[in-house]
Amino acid sequence: MRKAAREFEIVREFRPEGIVRLQKISCGQCGANDEHRVSHDKPMPFDAVAHVFRRRGWLIGSSPRHDLCPGCVLARHPRKSREPETPMQKEPTSAPPSPSEQPPRVMGREDRQIIFARLSDVYLGERVGYGTGWNDERVARDLNCPRKWVEDVREEFFGPIRADQSPEIIEITGRLAAVEESASQAMAVITGIEAAASGTARLLEENKGALAGLQKELASIRASVAKITGRPT
Ligand SMILES: [Zn+2]
Repeated sequence: MRKAAREFEIVREFRPEGIVRLQKISCGQCGANDEHRVSHDKPMPFDAVAHVFRRRGWLIGSSPRHDLCPGCVLARHPRKSREPETPMQKEPTSAPPSPSEQPPRVMGREDRQIIFARLSDVYLGERVGYGTGWNDERVARDLNCPRKWVEDVREEFFGPIRADQSPEIIEITGRLAAVEESASQAMAVITGIEAAASGTARLLEENKGALAGLQKELASIRASVAKITGRPT
């Protein structure tokens, strides 16, 4: 939502070899991504980058929403490109080396700037903490940098993480929601059976048994949440 004229903005990301500058495109249909590396902060002109992506099979639309990846272009016009004329263009971007191959790097000033910029977008303040779905882990994954870096920058500039946004709590509340959902489904079944009443005593007992089990699990998860957050859920 920045400007009307199209431009592939420079994005800085961490890669095993260091910080890279990329002009990225993503498919308006399936979300697939591709990228063009540049060596300076000055973006390559739109037409030049568009040309690079077109050669790789992308369709450049009138707006980012209308860009189509080679896969979706093929799906849309299957006949047109049945025989690949230039197979070498289809070569996918090489897979990044595994994290274990990454040399440990010390966080530099530019690293901090990048993490700071991303946190500014997704960390809503000390009282609220991260926006929905965000946490240190996800920011680190998103930027492809060590989680410790994110933690350090977040601590330094934004403040501590809220107890209920710690990875343990996020995981446990996810389980809580799932069990609550199952419990309410069992409850609905019971209500239905009870309404029907006759001849279903056995079914009723089975579902009550299932509900009892779920409620027990619920109580134990709630207890662990309370233990971690120090307050009842
Ligand atoms: Zn696509």
